[in-house]
Amino acid sequence: MLKDLFQIIIKMKVDILVVMAHPDDAELCCSGTILSSINQGMTVGLVDLTKGELGTRGNEEIRLIESKNSSDLLELKFRDNLGFRDGFVSNTENYINEIIKKIRKYSPKVVITNSKKDRHPDHENASEIVKKACFLSGLVKYKTTLNDINQEPHRPKLILYSIQNDYVEPDIVIDVTDFFLKKMESVKCFKSQFYDPESNEPDSFISSLEFLDFIESRSIEMGHKIGAKHGEGFTLDNPISLNSISNII
Ligand SMILES: [Zn+2]
Repeated sequence: MLKDLFQIIIKMKVDILVVMAHPDDAELCCSGTILSSINQGMTVGLVDLTKGELGTRGNEEIRLIESKNSSDLLELKFRDNLGFRDGFVSNTENYINEIIKKIRKYSPKVVITNSKKDRHPDHENASEIVKKACFLSGLVKYKTTLNDINQEPHRPKLILYSIQNDYVEPDIVIDVTDFFLKKMESVKCFKSQFYDPESNEPDSFISSLEFLDFIESRSIEMGHKIGAKHGEGFTLDNPISLNSISNII
């Protein structure tokens, strides 16, 4: 009884936990899906692994404020930051252990993470360690504690790998047509990172006007695959199980 009470205190369940390498990754590649899921009554929380301190523009403090503004817009349940070293997200037990603690704390059914194949090495490494954390989190004999209380094992049912910079053929595409404009608003919350004609900071790979056009083009491209105006694509480790063909028609 007391044990159950402790577990309730240290848990805060969500349906979907988004775990991304950098603040703004979620906005760029899956904020339409986040908005759509919340609109359908699901709960969504987000964990950024780093503070993006190596980004060409802005700094830790600015990006934290931008993250907060976007979180409010997206109506996330929470947004945590694990403070891993930007540029050095790597397959170490220490990092994986911290992600497991979040998975056990929030007990998500679904985890969304970075792309397995992408320009930024942190994205690929994040996808690898999040996958490992999801597996290890389900093992009874792998022990973690939160606030000195033993956490219970939990393994998410599904991991979705988002698609960001590099094109990857999606396994599924979510129709985000109704949420595209709000998605772009959430992207633009990161004012320091993206196109701003008044900025005096150096140009970066993502600060041009064309980059925002690219985000829109990718959204249209993914939408086109499913006969929708806008879409967000994801890859999977395994096929999705369906009870019946009727579930997809
Ligand atoms: Zn990133």
